[in-house]
Amino acid sequence: MESSLRDVVSRLAGSDDAAWIIFEGQSVDWLVSNGLAVLTQREPMERWPTQIVAQFREALNNAQTAYRTRNIMIHGEWRTDCFMGEGCIGRSAPVPADGPVFHVHRSRYRKGLEERQLAIVDIEALAEHMRELEYELRAAMKKADDAWLGSIA
Ligand SMILES: [Zn+2]
Repeated sequence: MESSLRDVVSRLAGSDDAAWIIFEGQSVDWLVSNGLAVLTQREPMERWPTQIVAQFREALNNAQTAYRTRNIMIHGEWRTDCFMGEGCIGRSAPVPADGPVFHVHRSRYRKGLEERQLAIVDIEALAEHMRELEYELRAAMKKADDAWLGSIA
């Protein structure tokens, strides 16, 4: 998903042969926030329909949310007991837990602790969701490409 995101945001920015270097190694947060900024900038220039821009914006935000979940899965501390108590976020997954539900917490940069309940099945579900988001991002880019009516500049 990350490489699709990088590719889509770099194309969104209208990168030429050399501009890809700006996007290499950038974090997902950076890609999403710059992708959203470029989208806002290009929207009136390209006369993209509002609906297409809204879908694009949603695809970028969804990618960021999925990536944050991935980060807590990878960097968080998995425990069987609850660490935070109140403020611990329950599972939102539609699939029932396939085994124990873990309490995963992680400290975030200047934002305090975050704790979520996760089951092993959630990891697989996230991987699948990220594949869908990859498709969603590419579909949003294609729609924007197709809707291009010519630059007004
Ligand atoms: Zn908990």
